[in-house]
Amino acid sequence: MAISIIYGPVPSWRLGRSLGVDLLSTEGKTCSFDCIYCQLGKTVHPLVERKEFVSIAKLAEELEAVKNTAADYVTFSGVGEPTLASNLGEAIELVRSVLELPVAVLTNSSLMTREDVRQELSLADVVVAKVDAPDEELFRQINRPATECTFNEIIRAIMLFREEYQGKLALQMMFVEVNKGCAPEMARIARQLSPDEVQINTPLRPCAVKPLIPEDISAIRRAFSGLKNVVAVYEAPRPEVIPLSQKATLLRRPKL
Ligand code: SF4
Repeated sequence: MAISIIYGPVPSWRLGRSLGVDLLSTEGKTCSFDCIYCQLGKTVHPLVERKEFVSIAKLAEELEAVKNTAADYVTFSGVGEPTLASNLGEAIELVRSVLELPVAVLTNSSLMTREDVRQELSLADVVVAKVDAPDEELFRQINRPATECTFNEIIRAIMLFREEYQGKLALQMMFVEVNKGCAPEMARIARQLSPDEVQINTPLRPCAVKPLIPEDISAIRRAFSGLKNVVAVYEAPRPEVIPLSQKATLLRRPKL
């Protein structure tokens, strides 16, 4: 059977051996953002409304085929923003019942303003929410959103989710040249949101912008002192893993 929804496992500096589920599985990226550092290139299908891309029946079929795969997490990610899939909640429940592994969702946070999205995300064991900017201007410059939602609305939505959510909430903050001077403001936002973990990242995979050097990331990290569980991309170990299908994996992660 050709595996198209499930990919990996891939080595994740945050989640160990991560078996990916791509509920979008579109040809070209489908996203509500078009981040300047995206490893998937330009957003081909800009989208802000949710819809079903792949059926639960197809996912169930593929899950049966990967039942014995060794992994630390099943991670909803892929060729765009996973919360755009209107069957995300159902898919999380199915994955957990078939694979008996903890479930993580990587989200750009833009749809967390919706109650149905927050409710579905709350079914996951780990939610990694993106915050790359301290204000509206840099948000538009870095994430280039298709959504009408403002930066403040998204921050308020994450805050609301934090109040309701019992699982582990991690904030992922991507630092590049344009926001590297904003670490104190970003740390202030992280303190407001009170996550279980803060992931300080810079794009190490090939993309349109250069990553920051380790010295810059160390300086940024210092601005986050006092916050619990701050991890930075250069410090984290990556496990060795062999993907089930190189082809399916390279579509979602052009460089392993
Ligand atoms: S949110 Fe993720 S998939 Fe979408 S453009 Fe940004 S980095 Fe790429």
